[in-house]
Amino acid sequence: MLLAGLPGIEGMLTENSTSPSSLASTGAKSPLVDQLLRGNEEFRENVFNADPELYKSLAQGQSPDILWIGCSDSRSDPERITHSQPGELFVTRNVGNIVPGHDWSLVTVVEYAVNYLEVQEIVVVGHSDCGAMKALDKDLLDPYIPLWLNDAREAKTRVDARISNAQTPEDPKERAHQIELENVRLQIEHLMTYPSVREAVDEGRVQVHGLYYDLATGTLSRVT
Ligand SMILES: [Zn+2]
Repeated sequence: MLLAGLPGIEGMLTENSTSPSSLASTGAKSPLVDQLLRGNEEFRENVFNADPELYKSLAQGQSPDILWIGCSDSRSDPERITHSQPGELFVTRNVGNIVPGHDWSLVTVVEYAVNYLEVQEIVVVGHSDCGAMKALDKDLLDPYIPLWLNDAREAKTRVDARISNAQTPEDPKERAHQIELENVRLQIEHLMTYPSVREAVDEGRVQVHGLYYDLATGTLSRVT
């Protein structure tokens, strides 16, 4: 729909023999998308219309105080688990809440949050049962996932140096938990190498924290 409104784009797409199937897929009927739209109707009726002043002010701009760097996991929704209002959290999520040195997307989010939104706090948030952390133990052949996980492997190495061999049935569980926690610490170390963060922290404009969300209990706690 948006593309069709751009001069020249419509013609380019219809002339391109490779695009019909992808175009067809964008307009296909989907019960799941219908569910999203119905959910939005419910949101407007029950939430949006219940607080028109809040949403009116949000339409004018945002000034969140916190940058949240979390995992994409569908069970760790930041606003929901912190009971935050819209406009309070500036959020970026990826597989494994990883802060690599070479990710232009993440570094742009961080620079924007620190230099323009002037957030006061950055939280790096891990969680239990994280698929990304489990994948550190697997030899995956996918073209990108193993590369992405390279920036988290040090967490596993550090934990394995501490927990050399599993003695009890509880040990593998504890090892997985320790890797999830260590990954939060590791990603904070990476984050502190970002010039915008280093400078803001040194000047006292920003603080960086580690957090961990336990899916089984719904508890968010500090990682030290
Ligand atoms: Zn995860």
